Amino acid sequence: MKIVSLLFISTLIVSCNSNQKEESEHQGRPSVHELINEFDSNKDGKLSESEVGGPLASDFQKIDADKDGFLSEKELELAPKPPRKGGEQTVVNKEDIDATVKGVSVNTSYFIKENIIGEITEKKVNLSGIETNCYVIKTHSQATEHQMGPWCPRHIEDGMEKAGIWFENDKVYDVSGHFIANLDEFYSDDKWKLFREDGSVKVTDSEISCLAAAKPDVEEKYHNHCVECLPEYFKDQVTTFVIPVNPQYLKKTQSFGRGGIGVAFNGVKYDPPAPTHAILAAHTIAPLDDHGGHVNPHGGYHYHAITGSTKEVAQSDAHAPMIGYAIDGFGIYALLDENGNAPTDLDECGGHFDDERGYHYHAGEPGGNQIIACLHGLPGYTEVKE
Ligand SMILES: [Zn+2]
Ligand SMILES: [Zn+2]
Repeated sequence: MKIVSLLFISTLIVSCNSNQKEESEHQGRPSVHELINEFDSNKDGKLSESEVGGPLASDFQKIDADKDGFLSEKELELAPKPPRKGGEQTVVNKEDIDATVKGVSVNTSYFIKENIIGEITEKKVNLSGIETNCYVIKTHSQATEHQMGPWCPRHIEDGMEKAGIWFENDKVYDVSGHFIANLDEFYSDDKWKLFREDGSVKVTDSEISCLAAAKPDVEEKYHNHCVECLPEYFKDQVTTFVIPVNPQYLKKTQSFGRGGIGVAFNGVKYDPPAPTHAILAAHTIAPLDDHGGHVNPHGGYHYHAITGSTKEVAQSDAHAPMIGYAIDGFGIYALLDENGNAPTDLDECGGHFDDERGYHYHAGEPGGNQIIACLHGLPGYTEVKE
């Protein structure tokens, strides 16, 4: 499964926002050469089926064009690539659907009515060539159960209650003034200086500066800033979620394309991991608020972490509560059950199966910058009208 994470990591580093027009280019996929080096255990310069895993194993026959039982550098070069820019999803065929793995139909009554624009409608949509009955859910992606923000502290003396959180190596940190003042130590890099001589923090505190800084290629002028956009800048944007009514389990996993990850019951988008590599390269941080959300110009307020702040649907057994839907229609649940235990049998996407809920996902730890890692169902999609 090593290869899945390798391909996947490189895809998601550039895809914080599938709708984002500008994406960081400085993190590519591993080259074919690197792939061979990594998995060629007998060092014969080509990959046999037993040496590979993940998508390469499931697509082995397709990639092995000359059918010699090995993947050569040339064959790998010509292999279909996982989606990089938002747009295309991995190709899905009818045969990829595994009808033996059941899910539960989407229950639209779980959504908070006030947060949905108009009614949730149903329509037939062609998803990767498969005609699928979908729900169409429109929202302004604005939380109502909790306050949105704060994100950046204004002074290095500010306490953590004046700001949000940041994450590094699976750990969550409060972005207090003290944290901002010590970023050079935190990252062992003396180029960090997010504050002025008077102790005030450099914050992108206008819509113009937010637009210039809340993207992977941060404008030079806003390097060494705490990046913050406000929900009201983008409150008129409409995010449309198109989600299969009856989720269909696929034998192979799907990376996040333009589909995004999913939606909370308050209509706020769950986003793929924040592109921390690009953010940090510009000596910026883009804190999440204490609820795991922040704002960007392509969809407004969205979550990168689950902190238990949004509507939950309790389960009749001790299972963790439900918190929303993935874009493939399978449910997303909190990590911990009533007794404080996390499931131990999650697959590479963060999902597993039980009789009550069918296939479903559990959200990752808040510090992990990853709500779920991939999709195991036929993905719907998200559209943002700016
Ligand atoms: Zn984000
Ligand atoms: Zn579960």
